[in-house]
Amino acid sequence: MSAAAQARRARDAAREIVTSYRGPRLRIMEVCGTHTHEIFRLGLRALLPPGIELISGPGCPVCVTPVPFIDEACYLARECGVTLCTFGDLLRVPGTAGSLADARSQGARVEIVYTPLDAVAYAAAHPAEEVVFLSVGFETTTPASALAIKKAAAQALTNFSLLAANKTMDAAYLAMRDSCDAYLYPGHVCAITGARVPRALTSRGISGVVAGFTASELLTALAVILRRSSAAPFFVNCYPRVVTEEGSPAARQLLETYFTPVDAEWRGLGVLPQSGLVPAPAYAEFDARKRYTIPPQEGRTNPACRCGDILRGACTPADCPLYGKTCTPEHPVGACMVSREGTCAAWYQYRGTSAASSGKEDLHG
Ligand code: SF4
Repeated sequence: MSAAAQARRARDAAREIVTSYRGPRLRIMEVCGTHTHEIFRLGLRALLPPGIELISGPGCPVCVTPVPFIDEACYLARECGVTLCTFGDLLRVPGTAGSLADARSQGARVEIVYTPLDAVAYAAAHPAEEVVFLSVGFETTTPASALAIKKAAAQALTNFSLLAANKTMDAAYLAMRDSCDAYLYPGHVCAITGARVPRALTSRGISGVVAGFTASELLTALAVILRRSSAAPFFVNCYPRVVTEEGSPAARQLLETYFTPVDAEWRGLGVLPQSGLVPAPAYAEFDARKRYTIPPQEGRTNPACRCGDILRGACTPADCPLYGKTCTPEHPVGACMVSREGTCAAWYQYRGTSAASSGKEDLHG
């Protein structure tokens, strides 16, 4: 049998396990924002029997970045006259007194960059400007911010720093443990941390599988959860072509060298101990909070926005009174509608569809 035929057979077997499931009710949390979107795009939710509930978790870095961070960034741009370099997703996240896009329209200097190294290059090319890179992300993207610090240090840049809201996922797995019966662990994050991190959580009673991003990989991951759900806490790496037991020592070394763990606030989850990363003491000159005096920020949100509950898996976008009315991707009220990986954005993009056409081919072809 050819490899393609074997893969089709495995996918069909996994789909059969998922669609025929009639066991106890199960709540499965997909932690990763990319999983959320792929599950929608592939029409996977339409295959699930009533007993399986898929919950979207806190795996969108822009969504979990709390409002005070946006307020700090706006303060730096408006009051300190710095040039902000940021990924585009952050631009439209509402802060207490408007978004970064609003600040830019009022004259603040805000540059869109595609990598942290772009921000370093901007700082090197504009020595008369003070440049602050807005550094958000999980284990997958933080190594690039570490490289930015490394490069800025090598170039002896004195006009570059980071406003950091980087986070690590392991504290979130623990914080969310009562929200679901099993996790679909994010494949990209586990590629850095290694499978050993989620595997160790079985000793804390937490179950889950690492999942890839194709239809076959997601169906297989779900099928494994359904087959193992009545067993003792379990862990299975269903993405072995990318995730090894040890992960990426080189990426972790970058994180350990250039960043240090701190307690960090997550939107919706509150402060999680040692879940944040800021520039390490040896690189304190690249920490914007040490270079500038930023007063405590209020971090006020629209009281009707339920982003925090959604990120905890406590409700869905449909439970938000603003969803699809005053809050749309064109006019987002909360972060979960802004980011490409946000749950509200996924619900809105795929509203009224059970499967995108390309997904049907992937699942059923
Ligand atoms: Fe917040 Fe908009 Fe989502 Fe409601 S629909 S929770 S206002 S982002």
